Amino acid sequence: MAATRSEVIVLGAGIAGCSLAYHLAGRKLGPVVLFDPRTPGAGATGRAAGIVTEQLWNEWDVEVTRESKRQYAELSARWDPSSYTVNGFVRWARGADAIAVLRATLGRLKSWGVEVQEIDSDGLVERVPWGRFDDGTRGIWSASDAVVTPSTIGEIYAEGARRSGVEFVLGTPMTSFGRVDGAWELSAGPHRVRAGMAIVAAGAWSKRLLRSTGHPLPLAPYRTQAAVLRPASGPEVFPSVHDVDVDVYARPEAKGRLLAGDGTRLVEVDPETFSTAADDDFVVHLAETFARRLPGWADAELVRAWAGVCTSTPDRRPLVGPVPGAPGLFALVGFNGFGVMRAGGVALRLAELIASGGTGATELGRLAPVLPGRFTTTADFSPRPGFTLEDGDDPRF
Ligand SMILES: Cc1cc2nc3c(=O)[nH]c(=O)nc-3n(C[C@H](O)[C@H](O)[C@H](O)COP(=O)(O)OP(=O)(O)OC[C@H]3O[C@@H](n4cnc5c(N)ncnc54)[C@H](O)[C@@H]3O)c2cc1C
Repeated sequence: MAATRSEVIVLGAGIAGCSLAYHLAGRKLGPVVLFDPRTPGAGATGRAAGIVTEQLWNEWDVEVTRESKRQYAELSARWDPSSYTVNGFVRWARGADAIAVLRATLGRLKSWGVEVQEIDSDGLVERVPWGRFDDGTRGIWSASDAVVTPSTIGEIYAEGARRSGVEFVLGTPMTSFGRVDGAWELSAGPHRVRAGMAIVAAGAWSKRLLRSTGHPLPLAPYRTQAAVLRPASGPEVFPSVHDVDVDVYARPEAKGRLLAGDGTRLVEVDPETFSTAADDDFVVHLAETFARRLPGWADAELVRAWAGVCTSTPDRRPLVGPVPGAPGLFALVGFNGFGVMRAGGVALRLAELIASGGTGATELGRLAPVLPGRFTTTADFSPRPGFTLEDGDDPRF
């Protein structure tokens, strides 16, 4: 069977691939095909918490996340208002060293125009009245941060892309993908598509997929966990919270429940074979944290708990743009556990680059900090995504 000719093939229908397809549609490009061997949201997107915060580590991340927020607010207002809620975000720590890092972070965030303020224990109690903060804890509060339902946002992008003519090939295993006669050719069951440009947006599966093309990138898939719990009482909507000292976060979930994580495991796993069940010690860690720090949630009933796979990079920044040495091949991968909040903004920038033929200098400049060509080695490394409190040139919390 002869291959169908297309202009762009997007590989992966998570929030990254779907938002890219949406932004590519209607850009005076030829046909766009989006392929996924599963269904939209079958990867990390369908397992994510959906916290969207501008409390980030560098100005570029803040800019793309702000753009994502703008898109999510607009799309959800139009298609499903329940999928986007502005609830604010509070991150706290105790101990002089940790508070010094929080304060340094606060200064940086303000210099990037992020709406943040320092709050003391009274301010924390005011926002999280079921918490206990009488030990000198201090926090950073950002009132305009939000939560989204990641799978719904992904579906909205997918539906928008579909309506604008993007063809979806879903639920068929990939037979092959590689370079044929100067183009990228995808075979999946009865489908054979050939295009001048292809984008790998296959989440944790991207490592293997890129390696199979002969163009590996430094990626390390790792497990992270979340749980839904039902507190006995409390408000339906409350600020998302992050206890930096114990690496636990929580956000409001529908029907008066809460969603808490993180349970990140710093070892590489295979997205085909990882354990999707939550570990007992993760659930115990949540219970202990609630008892000590958030006593109003101490008796919360566990509804369900699970694990998903995210993808780490050596410098904890995504890999987005042309894959070195592979003409017409692009990456949209390596979100280090923060892909929901960045997807819409990053995908827009990548769509602009692709619409420029993949070489526009301005468009490449807008992706400069995350271009895949910044690495000269693809050697294995240990995943170390966000959520440890570090200062210096590469700060984290
Ligand atoms: C428990 C948990 C909590 C999280 N919380 C947050 C949060 O609060 N905020 C935040 O910003 N991020 C969060 N994340 C991270 C976020 O989920 C990811 O960064 C984001 O979903 C990545 O989206 P993606 O589209 O790149 O990948 P995925 O959603 O994993 O999608 C990849 C897709 O590629 C497909 N695929 C596999 N093989 C192929 C192939 N050969 N060809 C084509 N397609 C293929 C898969 O089937 C899948 O559908 C969390 C993640 C987890 C697991």
